[in-house]
Amino acid sequence: MLPQLTIVVPCYNEQDVLPISTPVFVGVIRDLVEKKLVSENSRVMFVDDGSRDETWRLISEFANKHDEVKGVRLSRNRGHQVAVLAGMTEAQGDLIATIDADLQDDPAVIEQMVLKSTQDGCDIVYGVRADRSTDTVFKRNTAEQYYKLLKFLGVDIVFNHADFRLLSRRALDSLLEYRETNLFLRGIVPMIGYRSGVVEYSRSERQAGESKYPLAKMVSLAWEGVTSLSIRPLRLITALGVVISMLAFATTIFAFAAALAGASVEGWASVIIAISFFGGVQLLALGLIGEYVGKIYLEVKRRPKYFVDSRV
Ligand code: UDP
Ligand code: MG
Repeated sequence: MLPQLTIVVPCYNEQDVLPISTPVFVGVIRDLVEKKLVSENSRVMFVDDGSRDETWRLISEFANKHDEVKGVRLSRNRGHQVAVLAGMTEAQGDLIATIDADLQDDPAVIEQMVLKSTQDGCDIVYGVRADRSTDTVFKRNTAEQYYKLLKFLGVDIVFNHADFRLLSRRALDSLLEYRETNLFLRGIVPMIGYRSGVVEYSRSERQAGESKYPLAKMVSLAWEGVTSLSIRPLRLITALGVVISMLAFATTIFAFAAALAGASVEGWASVIIAISFFGGVQLLALGLIGEYVGKIYLEVKRRPKYFVDSRV
C-alpha cells in the first residue's frame, strides 16, 4: 500500500507568492503519485494564519480547481509555529511534510524525504540547509551563534534545520502529545526519538512578497526556544549570585578593615557603584525568574492554541 502524503504549508499574507508556489506544490504531489511513491489521495494543506490580504480567497480558489489542494483558515494570526501545528493536526495520511509557502525550501527535496521514510524507515526526516549563502551576513551569523547557544544550554537541536521536515504518522501523533503552549517545534521534534534522517538542500531567495519574520518576531522565536526548552539560564543566575555574594562578602570585610584603620574616606563613588551594580544584577535575576514564572502561568491556563475558522 502506498503511503498518503500531506504537505502542510503555513501562509500569512502570501497573496504574492501563492500563485507561484501552488502549482509547484501540486506538481510535487502529482509527480510523486505518478512515480508510485505516494497514494493518489495525497494532498497539499494550506493553513491561512489569519491573513489580512487575499490569501484565503486564493486558497479557496485553488482548492476548487485542484483535487490535491485543501485549506484551513485560523480564526486569527497565531504565528508560524502554531500555524504549522494546526496544519499537522488537520492533516491526514501516513507522511506529513511541512514547508514554507515562499519556495525558499526546495519542494523537490520532499521526494528524497519520502524515500528516506519509505526505504530507510525514518520516522523523522529533517531538511537541513547545506549552506547559508543566500542569507544576509547578519542573519547567518546570528543564526549560527543561536544554534550554538542552544546546544550550550542543553537543547538538542539539529544544526541549520528550521521547519522543513517530514514526519511519519506515529512521529506526528507523538509530537501532538506534547501539549505545550510555548511552542518551539524544532526543539521538541528531536525529543520524540524514533529513527531519523537528514536531507540536505540549498535554500533560495523568497520568490515573491516580503518576509513575514521581521527581526522582532525572530528574536521572540529565539527567546521562546531558549526559555521553553532550557532551565539553564536560571542555574546560571544562581551561580552568578553565589560569585557575587562572595565578592560582596570580601568587599564588606575590606570596608570594615578600612574603617577600623581610620582610612574610611568619602566613599560616595564606591557606594553608588555597589548599589547600582547589585541593583542591576538583582533586577536581571528577577526578570529572568519572572520570565519562567510567566511561562508556567501560560502553560497552567491550558489555553487553546488556535481555532479553525473554515475549511475548504
Ligand atoms: N508565517 C505564518 N504566520 C506568521 C508568519 C509567517 O504562517 O505569523 C509563514 C509564512 O507565510 C511562511 C513561513 O511562515 O510560509 C515562513 O515565513 P517567512 O518566509 O516570512 O520567514 P523567513 O523565511 O523570512 O524567515
Ligand atoms: Mg521565507
